[in-house]
Amino acid sequence: MTIEIRRVTVLGTGVLGSQIAFQTAFSGFDVTAYDISAEAIAAARDRFATLTETYSAEVSGAADGKAEKAGAGITLTSDLAAAVRDADLVIEAVPEVLSIKQDTYRALAELAPERTIFATNSSTLLPSDIKDYTGRPDRFLALHFANQVWKFNTAEIMGTDETDPEVYRAVIDFASAIGMVPIEIHKEKAGYVLNSLLVPFLNSAIALSAGGYADPEAVDKTWRIATGAPMGPFQILDVIGLTTPYNILVNGDADSARLAAWLESEYIAKGKLGIATGEGFYRYSS
Ligand code: NAD
Repeated sequence: MTIEIRRVTVLGTGVLGSQIAFQTAFSGFDVTAYDISAEAIAAARDRFATLTETYSAEVSGAADGKAEKAGAGITLTSDLAAAVRDADLVIEAVPEVLSIKQDTYRALAELAPERTIFATNSSTLLPSDIKDYTGRPDRFLALHFANQVWKFNTAEIMGTDETDPEVYRAVIDFASAIGMVPIEIHKEKAGYVLNSLLVPFLNSAIALSAGGYADPEAVDKTWRIATGAPMGPFQILDVIGLTTPYNILVNGDADSARLAAWLESEYIAKGKLGIATGEGFYRYSS
């Protein structure tokens, strides 16, 4: 029997959850978004309003009220049972804290119908860390989006050795149906493809400048001119914001901690956190 996905519930309406819910509604699916409190639901409404404006300005085909219709069509609730009662697919985007994820799946396992597929958007956890809490390891996998899903539209799909291949296939088809480019990961890998490449690349750039070998501008210029890439690593770091890379480095080995200390003293302590604060490795006018 083919698996049909029509009703999608997104858990967590923060940075990524709000984007996933909006993109899915924009693509014509029936979407419910769940968060934990009235305050979080109010914040979600604001995020959807901002996304409506962003889509209208940046996404082709979003004019003529299509973005407004997507935002207005999302059902928001803080009642988990109601949120998942009819779901074909639940996409989980709750905070990146293992205990929160495990508690969430423990509750979900009881409340969602047996047929419901669960997908985690976790960036750093493996689905194997969570599968035993789902009550349905054969219908569970990772579906990992990139920030700003409407333009950076990869969806990395990674199962465990227990994921049913038909479920995996259905999630690939779903990712395509919401305008993502599905990237199949054949076995579990922390960081998927994107962060397995990006994190060492960014850390190498930081090591070059922190070690006094070359300034950030020179590192970026080299990368752009010699490879034809549109952005160098420090430009990418300014887009990401310096806090997340700092948090990854500060929890690493002694060499990583030295790089974290450089980021902290030269940039973070001076309020230079990237584009969001108007300055990081570069200055931004607006
Ligand atoms: P966030 O902090 O912006 O949002 C988390 C949301 O979850 C908040 O709205 C919060 O109210 C809600 N929440 C808290 N506890 C909850 C619970 N028990 N049940 C349901 N919701 C709860 O986080 P984010 O950046 O959107 O990250 C969410 C997930 O997406 C993480 O697993 C992260 O690794 C992943 N992710 C993030 C990015 C990114 O660039 N931010 C990119 C890819 C994947």
